[in-house]
Amino acid sequence: MSFVKTKVDMTPIEDTVFAIVKKAKEAKAKIGAENVVDATIGSLYNEEGSIVAFESVFTPYDQIAKETKAAYAGSFVGNESYRKQVYDWIVKPSGSTLEHSVIATPGGTGAVALTLQEILDEGESVLLPEIAWGSYKLMAAMDNLKVKTYSLFEENHFNISDFQKKCEEILETQKKLLVVINDPCHNPTGYSLTKEEWEEVVRILNACAKKVPVILLNDIAYIDYSYDVDHSRDYIKTFDAFNENVFVVIAFSCSKSLTSYGLRCGAAILMAKTKEAVRSVEIVFEKAARATWSNIPNAAMDNFTFVTTDNHNAYMKEKKFYIKLLKERSEIFVEEAKACGLSCYPYKEGFFVTVKMEDNNIRDEFHEALMQNHIYTVKVNKGIRVAVCSLSVEKCKGLAKRMADILNNLS
Ligand code: PLP
Repeated sequence: MSFVKTKVDMTPIEDTVFAIVKKAKEAKAKIGAENVVDATIGSLYNEEGSIVAFESVFTPYDQIAKETKAAYAGSFVGNESYRKQVYDWIVKPSGSTLEHSVIATPGGTGAVALTLQEILDEGESVLLPEIAWGSYKLMAAMDNLKVKTYSLFEENHFNISDFQKKCEEILETQKKLLVVINDPCHNPTGYSLTKEEWEEVVRILNACAKKVPVILLNDIAYIDYSYDVDHSRDYIKTFDAFNENVFVVIAFSCSKSLTSYGLRCGAAILMAKTKEAVRSVEIVFEKAARATWSNIPNAAMDNFTFVTTDNHNAYMKEKKFYIKLLKERSEIFVEEAKACGLSCYPYKEGFFVTVKMEDNNIRDEFHEALMQNHIYTVKVNKGIRVAVCSLSVEKCKGLAKRMADILNNLS
């Protein structure tokens, strides 16, 4: 007997991250935090080991009237001022001329989930990166979608030929193509495509769009931590070259941008050549949003608008400090890894560095051995994720060498 719908996977969620986070916590309690390397946490932490909550975000948030916090949003697609500011924050600097609209969502998760849920029919395949944020697969499974993956790298750059091959394979079996590209600051490798690589992606998707409608889901959860933040949106201009049969959804999240993971605020930015195309997707997304979460926290939206306009300078200054810190931590790890021969995926920027492990069996053994040495990391497909976002500079020092030694000593 089952109380839930028949077409659902009944296997319990395997939250590998939280299980390891718990182990790391227990180890800290037992042997002292100074003796444990906890590289599991995917939020920004300061050098003292606490979560960062930007002053420039939470001081104004605390000053918002309780009535504003209590009220429903202005509309179930989001407050007008928020929708406009999300566009101005992300897309406008690129100079894009595509038609557009914005729908507020609960974090980036909401925007990604809406897209997977409303674009494909059950049984169709979504194209995901081979190494990726775990929720994509979970969402696909909940929507009864199949998953196909593209290999991310060829040597030290984006594997454009495998991307093309997998797109073409999907075209042979279905009448729509949905691809996910998590860029810039890919989770978990820290790769960002170059403008030239994006131009190649646009060329390939345009060619596919001669046969079927193509939807590009560009997940930009970490964009505001690009090292060259002033030019981090430039690549969006390459989308202007998309033909009328391509649709873009940019999944934006305030979680990392504002260090406000718990406020559940994000957006789906819809972009296409024609107003009609944008409206057609908007109609469906609006209804799905209304039917699922109804509306997004009013105060969180208003605060984003305030922080990125009136409080812009204070916010950028505070964020810049942490971008520099991320850079310092990641450079230590990456350079030491290079020096001792610990192979990592090509890292450019962002919250995570990933150690390359082609064989998932060896990865499992390595991950276990690391824990025995009080180094806690997260397993990802073909890799071990090191969260430099939450690891102090001191803890980053010497870590790569310790990991390399443990790997070399595996039986
Ligand atoms: N996309 C990626 C790649 C992520 O890593 C995350 C969060 O970890 C998200 C999207 C969504 O985060 P949120 O729903 O908190 O905005």
